[in-house]
Amino acid sequence: MTLSVVVPLYNEEEVIAESYRQLTEALESCGESYELIFVNDGSRDQTWAMAHALAMRDKRLKLLCFSRNFGHQTAITAGMDHASGDAVVVIDADLQDPPSVIPAMVEKWREGYDVVYGRRTRRKGETLFKKATAKAFYRGVNAMTDVDIPVDAGDFRLLDRKVIEALKALPERNRYVRGLVSWVGFRQAAVDYVREERFAGVTKYPLRKMLRLAADAVTAFSYKPLKLSIYIGAVMAALCFAFLLFVIVQRVFFPDTIQLSGWASLTAISLFCNGIILLMLGIMGEYIGRIYDEAKARPIYILSGKVNFDPAE
Ligand code: UDP
Ligand code: MG
Repeated sequence: MTLSVVVPLYNEEEVIAESYRQLTEALESCGESYELIFVNDGSRDQTWAMAHALAMRDKRLKLLCFSRNFGHQTAITAGMDHASGDAVVVIDADLQDPPSVIPAMVEKWREGYDVVYGRRTRRKGETLFKKATAKAFYRGVNAMTDVDIPVDAGDFRLLDRKVIEALKALPERNRYVRGLVSWVGFRQAAVDYVREERFAGVTKYPLRKMLRLAADAVTAFSYKPLKLSIYIGAVMAALCFAFLLFVIVQRVFFPDTIQLSGWASLTAISLFCNGIILLMLGIMGEYIGRIYDEAKARPIYILSGKVNFDPAE
């Protein structure tokens, strides 16, 4: 088996047939043996039934079914865990990442690169809001983390078996796959492409999921938010201490000047300080919650079905 192609699917009944068709076409043009792995991430529509029907006719199409929605990054992880190819390609189901780019990735892989990632030179047909938030996401995550994650590159990429084995050896449950791929290293190359419009349906990444992905990315790859708390805390402590001295000096040496007016300033100071403290606690909570998740050591996903895999796999 040379190529494995992993496709996460969440409520993609409108695109699955066309996606399967275009992927098969692109893979056949590569001239390599291949397997397609569709990971159904707890879809609530006809995705599973349709995938099942396709898999009954094509043994090269293998299916994994989650017991519920575990999220995009988890679906990719499951696909990688079950892939048997010498190289694994991860691609979205909605044809925003054109399958026709896969042969170019394979070409680069043949040249000796271990990671070939798709870099979006342009995004078509997405709302200004989506483009702006995506841009802010990639820049923001990079500014806040210590690993160098390529900007404007999603999860559309080809990974050599070596990289897959390295990723599988990472036991963490919070899986920001792009970051992990950068973290493991190896020889990396980019292939430029234009991100197409979604073939059909709507995005499965609402703002809520994007924010969560950003929080996962930052907490998994950096302590910067915690360090920021220390710096802000130090500055605030210094300011408060200076003010404390001022208050003591005033009370001891100039008791007559103290008036009972300071209500507004006291309230402002207390609200401001409490706000900052709660914010810092929130940041710590983000980390502690993730430590808790790791400590519980629950499986990353639960499968409710597998189709066309060998019993041994
Ligand atoms: N996806 C998934 N689980 C989720 C959300 C999304 O498996 O909880 C899949 C989705 O089916 C698609 C890919 O992840 O194949 C990318 O999602 P989408 O195209 O909606 O994101 P966008 O391109 O808008 O960022
Ligand atoms: Mg998409």
